[in-house]
Amino acid sequence: MRIREVGPRDGFQNEPEVVATADKVRLIDALVRTGLRRIEATSFVRADVIPQLADAEEVLARIDVPEGVAVSVLIPNERGLENALRARERFDEINVFLSASETHNRKNVNRSIDESLVGLAAVLGRARAEGLRCEGVISVAFGCPYEGHVPPARVFAIAQRLVDAGAQEVGFGDTTGMANPLQVRAFFEEARAALGDDVELTAHFHNTRGQGLANVLAALEMGVDSFESSFGELGGCPVPAGATGNIATEDLVSMLHEMGISTGVDLEALLAAARAVREVLGRPLGSHTLVAGPVDWHEPAASSGVPADPGHRVGLVLDRNAGASIDQARRARGQPAEGEGEVLEHD
Ligand SMILES: [Zn+2]
Repeated sequence: MRIREVGPRDGFQNEPEVVATADKVRLIDALVRTGLRRIEATSFVRADVIPQLADAEEVLARIDVPEGVAVSVLIPNERGLENALRARERFDEINVFLSASETHNRKNVNRSIDESLVGLAAVLGRARAEGLRCEGVISVAFGCPYEGHVPPARVFAIAQRLVDAGAQEVGFGDTTGMANPLQVRAFFEEARAALGDDVELTAHFHNTRGQGLANVLAALEMGVDSFESSFGELGGCPVPAGATGNIATEDLVSMLHEMGISTGVDLEALLAAARAVREVLGRPLGSHTLVAGPVDWHEPAASSGVPADPGHRVGLVLDRNAGASIDQARRARGQPAEGEGEVLEHD
């Protein structure tokens, strides 16, 4: 399971206030010690456009990242890459982005999709030559707030051009939370068929309509094992109003662990980082596990920080028979499986 924490970029970029550099450094240093192996630390966008991330170079210089954690930075264009390369030894991956709809791309970066692809191809080529791993992220891949339906074939055509230009990973963003689980299931089945087995497919869901984790499960069932998420459920897109953040990393990790899927992440350490960012921002955050805490089965804690595998955690069967393992889990908890009778503990 691959989880990229994107809060320090996707999250801090969307806060109305500028988070102090020292706080960013402290929070990133905490996140990279939770067992997360991938983090998007900042972005080399123009400081006058996104003042929240104007300190990119300083953040990269000051963070202390353990061996084995890949640091990614967002690169908007060739100029951004030039600036980032001044700190080349401080990061491992870049990601570039564009939108799947012409209107969203125009409003976001004032270019047509084709103009974006030409510019990004140059960025990807140069980045690969520098030995950087490359991800291309496609925003509004599951629906656009301006244009509505986005044909998946168009998304895959854009993805293929990113791959041809050097992207080893393509992220599909549900930027304004329009996707539903059945759509996600069909989407990733078609994406794999269209793009082949060599490219890593990453799901980037937002929780705008509360369907983020349901969409994760649908993607898992289609074999997707790479996700992006934000601690505290930070992030979001200013349009449309009311859009919330990415799915919370701690909610994602909690769900995966409860399904018997290990992540290597220490959930308590992650929750401590989420509490710390809540304190810095001084407002309630969208994350559920941050409020409710981890599920407590009243068993001795696993000393490793990785959950043990007690009887009630039945490994998810990653196919359409997933319902069977849910029934097994219910039986193991002393509850009847679906259709076997009533649960009378609560009336
Ligand atoms: Zn996002």
